[in-house]
Amino acid sequence: MVTLNPDYRKVKQSYLFSEITKRTKAFQASHPDAKIIRLGIGNTTEPLPEIICDALENASRRLGKRETYSGYGDEQGNSDLREAISKFYAKLGLTIPVGEIFVSDGAKSDLGNLMQIFEKGSVIAVQDPVYPAYVDTATISGHQIITMPCTPQNQFFPEMPKQPSVIYFCSPNNPTGAVASRSQLEQLVDHAMQTDSVVVFDAAYSPFISDPKLPRSIYEIEGAKKCAIEINSFSKSAGFTGVRLGWTVVPKDLVVSNTKEGEANAVWNRRQTTFFNGASNIAQAGGLAVLTNEGQEACQKVVDYYKNNASMIRAGLGESGITVYGGRHAPYIWAQMPNGMKSWDAFDKFLTEANVVVTPGSGFGSQGEGFVRFSAFGHQENVQEAIERVKKLKF
Ligand code: PLP
Repeated sequence: MVTLNPDYRKVKQSYLFSEITKRTKAFQASHPDAKIIRLGIGNTTEPLPEIICDALENASRRLGKRETYSGYGDEQGNSDLREAISKFYAKLGLTIPVGEIFVSDGAKSDLGNLMQIFEKGSVIAVQDPVYPAYVDTATISGHQIITMPCTPQNQFFPEMPKQPSVIYFCSPNNPTGAVASRSQLEQLVDHAMQTDSVVVFDAAYSPFISDPKLPRSIYEIEGAKKCAIEINSFSKSAGFTGVRLGWTVVPKDLVVSNTKEGEANAVWNRRQTTFFNGASNIAQAGGLAVLTNEGQEACQKVVDYYKNNASMIRAGLGESGITVYGGRHAPYIWAQMPNGMKSWDAFDKFLTEANVVVTPGSGFGSQGEGFVRFSAFGHQENVQEAIERVKKLKF
């Protein structure tokens, strides 16, 4: 008999975004004149810088000429892009050789695919609240999930699991906007080394970090190459949410218990060369332009635009008496509702009284109850208007 993977039955229905859409549509239908502003999802809104568009356009034109046409590239990514990524790390003072860098079609694919290299039934530890893809991909892959509560009381830095685990750790964090300090990341790496755990560090939002004292890569922490994999993305740093490009670093020094040095890197290489035929060559040409000095400068301006939105949201919510976290080195503001208001009640209030869509924090895990997430991805004029409306609400 052929059966489907039963673990798919264990995945919770993605209630969060479908319910947001359902409630928003119903409200719009009954209030056709309401100008709804969406600050719910983490999708980029600003155009790509010219230099990146030129690179994408030129790459597609090269495909139109016999002399410059190219087909499949290396599954691990084109060598010029991998070298550029290696140089990107060198600017942080880090040595990450090309052989440890694997280009992908985005961080989400890799954070899920990485689950495949760990034995079924492994313990996957995730922060709570959490980006839901970690939990769903761990469930489908047949792993056990344990949660690490992240609250204002622990400054959103959780207690570590007692047992050896694959610890998915995201900083700057989605959804809380919290960013881990150097000493917190030292604790994380120390813990992983002592418990034979592996850290999967999601650095998708690292370009939002503007304080040079805060690490942008887990490899800034001594010893991390022995215990950590890092995922990164061009989505939020360069507006590639639709173009699709990212990378993962699997160090050759990484030792997962009962393997030898280099084996984890070789297994990931095997996984990628078996299941993946490489990222789009057009996207990779765009990525190469992103990593030039000019590209970095242009992309940083867009990141700064979103960061300015985040500051406006923080300030506006603060004036309304809402306690805010995050939003300084991240595009997300984690807003704690006053008087014990529940997340979905707050969602309804923002929608019906200010016509602003946010994301209920409870959708990211039990520790998100009582919070909502504001996203700073949006046109500045819309963010400004949304905040003016929110400031008039009474809680
Ligand atoms: N990791 C986190 C924490 C995210 O919030 C997201 C997207 O919102 C991703 C990964 C996915 O990134 P990508 O677009 O590169 O797949």
